[in-house]
Amino acid sequence: MSSKSDKQQKTASTTGAGAPAVSDRNSLSIGADGPILLHDVHFLEQMAHFNREKVPERQPHAKGAGAFGVLEVSEDVSKYTRAALFQPGAKTDMLARFSTVAGESGSPDTWRDVRGFSLKFYTDEGNYDLVGNNTPIFFVRDPMKFPHFIRSQKRLPDSGLRDNHMQWDFWTNNPETAHQVTYLMGVRGLPRSWREMNGYGSHTYLWINKAGEKFWVKYHFHTEQGMAHFSNAEAAKMAGSDADFHRRDLFDAIARGEHPSWILSVQVMPYAEAKNYRINPFDLTKTWSHKDYPLIRVGKMTLNRNPENFFAEIEQAAFSPGNVVPGIGLSPDKMLLGRAFAYADAQRNRIGTNFHQLPVNQPKVPVNTYMFDGQMAYQHSGNAPVYATNSAGRPWADETGVVEDSWEADGEMVRSAYTLRAEDDDFTQPGILVREVFSDAERDALVETVSGALLGGVRSPVLERAFEYWKNVDPAVGKRIEEKVRAGKAS
Ligand code: NDP
Repeated sequence: MSSKSDKQQKTASTTGAGAPAVSDRNSLSIGADGPILLHDVHFLEQMAHFNREKVPERQPHAKGAGAFGVLEVSEDVSKYTRAALFQPGAKTDMLARFSTVAGESGSPDTWRDVRGFSLKFYTDEGNYDLVGNNTPIFFVRDPMKFPHFIRSQKRLPDSGLRDNHMQWDFWTNNPETAHQVTYLMGVRGLPRSWREMNGYGSHTYLWINKAGEKFWVKYHFHTEQGMAHFSNAEAAKMAGSDADFHRRDLFDAIARGEHPSWILSVQVMPYAEAKNYRINPFDLTKTWSHKDYPLIRVGKMTLNRNPENFFAEIEQAAFSPGNVVPGIGLSPDKMLLGRAFAYADAQRNRIGTNFHQLPVNQPKVPVNTYMFDGQMAYQHSGNAPVYATNSAGRPWADETGVVEDSWEADGEMVRSAYTLRAEDDDFTQPGILVREVFSDAERDALVETVSGALLGGVRSPVLERAFEYWKNVDPAVGKRIEEKVRAGKAS
């Protein structure tokens, strides 16, 4: 005989089709001890859905979390861009997702790695995504190398283990990695929390003002919580005791009402100056010196609301640097152009063709797209024409001629590295970082960290190449690394 509370339970849940579920506790069987029955549709639905309830994790940036917030523009940068979200006084709802790059979705937050810093702004002119990192630079400058780079940071084909030898083999074979590797092996490679790190758009973007004038920009988000870092020992301990430390820290802080914030500034380069700047300003392995292009303050980004549902709002969040809005464009940065395709395509594979229809990815403005149907189509345009141009009055886009967010390109079709500028080389900027920016203590920590990694299974000839690599960054630091590694091997 069933009790009243059992009946309440029965009416509380439903099948996916909305009918009352029969039981969430007992499967249907012949007698209490007999076999279960294939027509227990509720059981079958639960199991079948359970088997499918994960989507493929992101290839890089699998482990992450995020929160919602607002971007408030306090300054006037309208002479550089007409983008609605950057006009004085504008307040734009947004989503941020932070992540590690190489680790899988369950990996420890405090392994040394670059951190993703992905932002989605729900603007009045459509979604604007700024998909950056906690570093102003990246490992490679041609997207053809990207899958190779990521695989080298992941796992060996036979043992399935991560491998220092493979990582350093890639890095030392590709010297343009030196700037980012120096940054990564420095103190900023182990941020104490996501709240206590800076974010950078990293790429160069185009801004266009109302008069159609163009500027190149780089985005900088400086944490208002102050920078803080873990030592190698603290990070290793945390990886063992709380693999989700960064995720927990952000969620708990926001739940307590401590809303982390970042000051947004930009470096602005007048359009024509890019042609003759002493380094290629579109090379993602380089920064623009602050002395040449000082930071110009724009406003403040504050995260103030946790997700209600991690899967729906964070795991299914789909960012793409290809999502730009009027007043903002891409640039000749080859990595950016490669990512403009790759990111949206990753989401089509991971979540499905219609990922942009999910609430977290939906723009807050009306959508009038000529993309139709496909798996899980939800939004639709009723009986409106499915083709453009049409005679039924459904609008279509009709821009012709030189596009506003354009730049000049010229030449034969080639496969080539960028043309070198007067001061373009792979080791000058990391050398400046090590000699002029790092403190003595930070240089010591760099030597310690690199030596530790090289002693962790890096073999000849990669080891000797690594010594050369670091001597090219800085002769003194390279010598110290070599001595420490050789002493470690001898002991
Ligand atoms: P600056 O002296 O004006 O800038 C140095 C910048 O380095 C600082 O503003 C700070 O950037 C950043 N920094 C400070 N400590 C560390 C650290 N331990 N690890 C990594 N970065 C740190 O000189 P330049 O603009 O000419 O740049 C010199 C070098 O500084 C570059 O070669 C580059 O390696 C590095 N850098 C430059 C940035 C830029 O956009 N110009 C940004 C970050 C690093 P922040 O204020 O962003 O924290």
